This record gives sequence, structure tokens and C-alpha cells, in this order.
Amino acid sequence: MKILSKQKLTAAFDQLAEKAELLVPMQKGATSAFLPWPEFEPGRDELRLEALNVDKPPKDAVLPQTERMYKFSANGPEVAVQEVYEISSPRIVFGIRPCDFRGIECLDQVFLTRGYADGFYQSRRDNTVFIAQACYQPGPNCFCNAMGVDPVKPQADVTIHDLGDGYAWEPLTPKGEETTEVISDLLQEKKAELPEVKPFTRQVAYAGLAEKLKDLFEHPIWEKLSDPCQNCGICTYSCPTCYCFDIQVKSFGEAGYRFRCWDSCMYREYTLMAGGHNPREASRERFRNRFLHKLQFFQERYGQPLCIGCGRCLIVCPAGISIVNIMQELKEVE
Ligand code: SF4
Ligand code: SF4
Repeated sequence: MKILSKQKLTAAFDQLAEKAELLVPMQKGATSAFLPWPEFEPGRDELRLEALNVDKPPKDAVLPQTERMYKFSANGPEVAVQEVYEISSPRIVFGIRPCDFRGIECLDQVFLTRGYADGFYQSRRDNTVFIAQACYQPGPNCFCNAMGVDPVKPQADVTIHDLGDGYAWEPLTPKGEETTEVISDLLQEKKAELPEVKPFTRQVAYAGLAEKLKDLFEHPIWEKLSDPCQNCGICTYSCPTCYCFDIQVKSFGEAGYRFRCWDSCMYREYTLMAGGHNPREASRERFRNRFLHKLQFFQERYGQPLCIGCGRCLIVCPAGISIVNIMQELKEVE
């Protein structure tokens, strides 16, 4: 088994960062996120490889919060596209957790399948190597196992397993093999035993819920469940699988550029139409849509739920709304 000693971790980061932009889980001030390794300042920042989930999931590696799409100019009725920004440079995401990697696989389904590949997403995805860290000790808000994620066997480019004083290093794809080559001088061949997986403390019963939800669209329970929701949208921005975006234009006279940016289905404006009609005018309707999309519609379309059990929305919701409790209530409702 290949082992990377923890004493050689920063040397490995330096070598990987010479080949690609390297993003690692880091605490910077009040926020933890996957941030570029060269920005790490010892004594001020903290590496968060032990954190099960940093505050911000690394979905922006493939779906940035804002990205330019193309530049245009107009001359009367003549409009010309001058440049399309589909280029992306090599990037390595180190230490993504298996639930968040499943989140990336959900995004792959949306942006790369069903006969259409989104060029902006595709260029980033092709240029990104994911090194996933297996989870042997689930946290108090984790329930990935209930949502079909194997916490120790993510299908990323490389999987690493924390052995205490080092990481077992397991390349799984050609991209993973190439990345392994970059640090081959730091890896040692040794025998090692992987840790035991500790039990999950949160018990979540998702099985069968997608089928049941087909009959609950008009159920009055949505009024009760959505009542505390303030439609702030932080649950969608923190979620590794939420992918809704808006496309906007920034123009300067006769020229400008189009860009896309994250949006949230919890906002009234999200479905507001030009004539003033809004199919999801009420907060209850937006709330219901979010949970049906995660637990029923995505499952029907792609064969897996759009929640990967990371637990972030349970932590950030100012109203204390928990998708775990919602699943339970929906399961029990008559
Ligand atoms: S974080 Fe909570 S209050 Fe805010 S939109 Fe999501 S469910 Fe509603
Ligand atoms: S819905 Fe909540 S628990 Fe599920 S993936 Fe999104 S943030 Fe994580």
C-alpha cells in the first residue's frame, strides 16, 4: 500500500501546487473552505483535513459562484460574440469528503448527461483531479449512508485514508495515477490496516420516500413544514448539490459580457415571469419544490437523491429547519 507520511504533507502540497492550482480544506478567519494552498499563512490559517465538512463545499471548483460566459459587441442590429470563456486551467481538490464527491457526481448528471454537455462545466471538470478522504468516524450531523453514499469508497481520482501518522494513498483513475506520479518520491510502500468504520449517530429513513412523495404534492403538511422558513436561501448556497443559476448581462454601451451566477429556488424572483405571473408565489410552494426536487424529482430522473447527507443545511438554517426531520415527518404523514 502507498503511504504518504503526514510529515511530508506540506512537501506534497508544494509539489502538487507546482503542477496545478491546489485547493485544500482551510480555516481562514471565520470561514472554512477549499482554498488555494499558496494562500495558506502558517500561524494565521489552519489546515482542516480532519474536519468532516468545511463550511463551503468545493462545488465552486466546477461550478463557480460567478463565471463569465462570453464577450460581445453590437453595431446596430449586428451582434458579434467576440470571445467564449470555456478555458479552465488544471486544478486539484485535495481532501474532498465522499459525500461532497457524490455531490460533484450529481452535478455531472445535470451538466454532462442526457445528450447535452455544458462546455463551461465540462472544461472545469476535465481539468480537475479530486483526491477524496475516506470517513471512518461520521459526525453528529452526517447521514450520507442513508442517501446511498459509501463513506469509505468514493469513486474519486485518488482516495486517501487517514492512518494517524500518514495517509494510505489509493489512485483509482488515470488522472489519479498521473497525480500520484507527481509525488511518487514522497510515497512509501508499506503494509497498513485501514481503520474500522464507526457507526452513524443519525438514523435517517429515506428508502421508499421518493415513491410516497408522488401523492403528497397537495398535502397540507407543506404549510406546517414551511412555516418557519424565512426564504433566506443560505441552505441552497451551502448545499454541495444545489446547482440553480441565473444568466445576466453586464454591458458598457454597445459591448459587454454575459455571466452566470448561483441562484436560489427559495427566492420569489427565481420563478417570477416577465408578465408578473409567478408559479411559486408562496413561500410554501418554493419550500415544497426544494424538498421535492431533492427527494423525489432528482431520484426519478437520475436514480439517486439530490441530497448526499452532508448535514450543512441543518447547521446553517437560521430557522432550525432540518431535512432529516422533514424526511421523518413526510414518512409518517398519512
Ligand atoms: S436556510 Fe432555512 S430559513 Fe433559509 S431558506 Fe433554507 S430552509 Fe428557509
Ligand atoms: S440538502 Fe442539506 S444535507 Fe442534503 S446535501 Fe444539501 S446541504 Fe447537505
